[in-house]
Amino acid sequence: MRESYLLLLCDYGRRLIADRLTTGTGGNLSIYDRDRELIAITPSGKPYEQLIPDEISIINPAGIHLDGQPPSSEWPLHTAVYHQRPEINAIVHTHSRFATTFAVLRQPIPACHYLIAVSGVDQVRVAPYVTFGTDELARETVASLGQDNCILLANHGLLALGNDLPQAYNIALYIEEVAELCYRARAIGTPVLLTHEEMDAARERFQTYGFNNPSKQLDQGLPGSRQQERHGTRQK
Ligand SMILES: [Zn+2]
Repeated sequence: MRESYLLLLCDYGRRLIADRLTTGTGGNLSIYDRDRELIAITPSGKPYEQLIPDEISIINPAGIHLDGQPPSSEWPLHTAVYHQRPEINAIVHTHSRFATTFAVLRQPIPACHYLIAVSGVDQVRVAPYVTFGTDELARETVASLGQDNCILLANHGLLALGNDLPQAYNIALYIEEVAELCYRARAIGTPVLLTHEEMDAARERFQTYGFNNPSKQLDQGLPGSRQQERHGTRQK
C-alpha cells in the first residue's frame, strides 16, 4: 500500500476530531488502491490522535485482513460501496452531530443551501436502520445509495464518498454544515428550499469549479501526496 495513502488517513483522522465530525473512536475512513486491489482503512477502536501509518489496516476487497491493526468493524460497508461504485476510491463515515440529528429523525437533509449539491442530488437521503458492522447494513446502504455521493444511515451517521479522500472528506464537512444551517433555520422559521433548477445550476458550477477532479485537489499541497509517494517505503 502506498505510504502516502496511510499518511493521508492519519491526517484526515485527526481532522475528523478537529472539525468535530466525530468524537472518540467513532466513524472511519478508507482509501481503495484499485491498481493493487488493496483497501487501507482506519483500525477498530484506535483514537485518531494516536494513529500512526503502520497501524492503518490493510484488507483486500473480500475483507481479508492483510496488515496493520484489525480493520474498523464497518469494513463490510466500505468494501460493498467500492464493489458497487467503480469511480469511488475513498469513503468517510462520520457520526457528526447535525447530520446524525437528521438521521435520528429519519428525515433527508433538504436543499436549504446550495452546498447540498456536493451530494450529487437535491437532498441527502436516508438508508434504513440496520445494526452497525453487519453485512446487512452494507447491503441495505448500497441498495439505497444509488449514484448519490453521500447518504444518511438511520439512527447512526453519515457516509460520504469521493474519487479521493479530500473529496470524500469535503462532502462530509459540507453536509454537516448544511445540516447545521437547516437545523438552526428551522429553530426560528421555515427554511426556503432551493428548486431543482437552482440545484442543477449549483451542480454545474461545482463541476467547472473542479470538485470532481481528484488530481487537482491532491496537488494542492496536502500531506502525503507527490513528495511522499516518491520516498514511500511501505509497498505491499
Ligand atoms: Zn458508525
